Amino acid sequence: MNGKPRNTFLALLATAMWFGVLALGGVLAFWAQGLNPGAPPSGTEPPAGSTPPAGPMVFPPTWTAAPTGIATPPGGTRSPGVIIEPTFTPILPFTPTPTFFITPIPFYEGPIEIGQSVGGRPLEIHRFGSGPVHRLIVAGIHGGYEFNTILLADELIAHLRAHPELVPRTVTLFILRALNPDGFARDLGVSGRVNDNGVDLNRNFPINWLADWDRDLCWNYAPTTGGASPGSEPETQALMKYVLEETRVTAIISYHSAALGIFPGGDPADEASARLAEAVAAASTYPYPPVDIGCVYSGTLPDWAAANGIAAIDLELHDHENTDFEENLGILQVFLNWRR
Ligand SMILES: [Zn+2]
Repeated sequence: MNGKPRNTFLALLATAMWFGVLALGGVLAFWAQGLNPGAPPSGTEPPAGSTPPAGPMVFPPTWTAAPTGIATPPGGTRSPGVIIEPTFTPILPFTPTPTFFITPIPFYEGPIEIGQSVGGRPLEIHRFGSGPVHRLIVAGIHGGYEFNTILLADELIAHLRAHPELVPRTVTLFILRALNPDGFARDLGVSGRVNDNGVDLNRNFPINWLADWDRDLCWNYAPTTGGASPGSEPETQALMKYVLEETRVTAIISYHSAALGIFPGGDPADEASARLAEAVAAASTYPYPPVDIGCVYSGTLPDWAAANGIAAIDLELHDHENTDFEENLGILQVFLNWRR
């Protein structure tokens, strides 16, 4: 037990000396560091262009990232930083291309002005459907007391707009409500038959054309003419251009009044026009063959159409007042589904 205090003293002395050695080492290390406080720790290179941190020195030192976006000054000893621009082109999973949306053609369009009358009135067409088979109804080629054909056209236009299902998807139907708006505006009697040039438009087409004709047995209620030359009138020209160049219709019904029946195009009758007349006659009470009053028919629309490969008929309503709407709605279905 006597040696125990002495041993304790020796142990404390040894411990104190050990801490003293450690403290001396630390002082020496700090002194050495102070000779070059900017030097990085051994084995660690600071990033190029970086700067030592401000404030008191800490271990390990932290380095501020080199500035970027700064060009190396000419003659500079150290680059403040190098920017490596991406040299690749991002590859997208697809090549973006403009997108085109196909706007569907509306079922109905109208009125479409295809020209003007001598009096400057618009010649208006209404289109129904967008199928490849083109059909045309012409009304009011004679104004005046045939105005009920224009009223029928208006009724058909309104009905078709409300019932688009009536037009087959394979068909485009055009309705020209009044080819002679001048005569329609002038009078609802006999003097309204001709246009503002006094020309009967159904005698003006460039087929079997005559300036005048024997009218003893025909329409002789008022002066009229076939025009100055075949196809001389703007109404005739506008219709021919639209039919041949813009719509390429394959069948035409031209409405008149009254009472004589159904007249096929061609003289003698064109085969396709005669079949169309027969199909319409089978679906109606209009006379076919038509009533023959010995009239000379020169320069007519159906004859011109037939000469151009278009099946065509003149169709006369029963009188000058009624539109025969229901009967002609049935004819319309035959016409839209008829095949050449
Ligand atoms: Zn007529």
